[in-house]
Amino acid sequence: MKYTTLGKTGLNVSFLGFGGIPIQRVSRQEAAVTVRHCLDQGICFIDTARAYTDSEEKIGEALKGLPRDGYVLATKTMARSGGDMARDIDISLKSLGVDHIDLYQCHNVRYDTDEAALFAPGGGLDALLDAQKAGKIGHIGLTGHQVDRLIRLMKTGKFATIQVPYNFNELKPEEELLPLALKENMGVIIMKPLGGGALPQDLALRFFLDKPVSVVIPGIEEPAMADQNLRSLMEGGPLSKAEEEEIGRIRQQLGQSYCRRCDYCQPCPQNIDISTVFLAHAYYNRYGMKDWARQRYGSLKVKGDACIECGQCTGRCPYGLPIPEMIKAAAADMG
Ligand code: SF4
Ligand code: SF4
Repeated sequence: MKYTTLGKTGLNVSFLGFGGIPIQRVSRQEAAVTVRHCLDQGICFIDTARAYTDSEEKIGEALKGLPRDGYVLATKTMARSGGDMARDIDISLKSLGVDHIDLYQCHNVRYDTDEAALFAPGGGLDALLDAQKAGKIGHIGLTGHQVDRLIRLMKTGKFATIQVPYNFNELKPEEELLPLALKENMGVIIMKPLGGGALPQDLALRFFLDKPVSVVIPGIEEPAMADQNLRSLMEGGPLSKAEEEEIGRIRQQLGQSYCRRCDYCQPCPQNIDISTVFLAHAYYNRYGMKDWARQRYGSLKVKGDACIECGQCTGRCPYGLPIPEMIKAAAADMG
């Protein structure tokens, strides 16, 4: 396993990290097996969030009894005000079962009102600084999807790390964000390295082998996923010319209008599992796995035709996807 320094935090982290979104889907016991397996394989950077329902608690259970210096723990919150931030830090500490969290991040900062509340006197950032002084958190980080906003916030000097979606089909961070992070010695954490499952795993991960990033955190749901990711990074080697060309073809085919499975569009009042509908549809359309896709779609409790086009999801999608239209198309193909 390759290890890197997470920018100015000085933390030593594994290049492959553990993304804590998918363990929401598995039992506590299965989650614990997966987290422990990752640690055994040398994956020592664990990222989760208050917003990932029971992910913090599941990780906390998995870490019980392990030496605290054996892993680097990062979580994040959508809290913006000082009071909410202080409360969430305490909840995270309790859920994770630790007395300090190495990195506490402002999660998905996307509106001007988020920034105003965070930077207000006595606001979210002041609460983070208080928690840092009290030894509850080690460092303060930032996460988001809007590259221009992130660049502006990085320039405030308030954040030690930046977490951003970046992969071979989402290259905008390469223009200004990554060079700025390098210049400012910020830790760079890459979310969505596999495009939420839309990109072929091996090519997508090996793309990072020569990139100036600290840690990539694909979501890991089971031990086999960790093993597969490790094999790609440790044995795969750099991309060949033919593979670069293959990536070019995939880029053309995918475009930008695809679901990254972040689930920010939830909750849907009709309880449609939007990202799984889109995952099944991606397999139906792109990978020619029509039978598998129909079966996966068929197993959903609520199908796409339950969509009432209320539009609540659309405003929440950081990629501006026309979700109701896409749901309708998926239902027409697979229903
Ligand atoms: S538009 Fe459809 S998918 Fe979106 S939240 Fe409303 S019912 Fe759910
Ligand atoms: S539709 Fe948008 S918000 Fe919902 S999971 Fe996909 S990318 Fe995320």
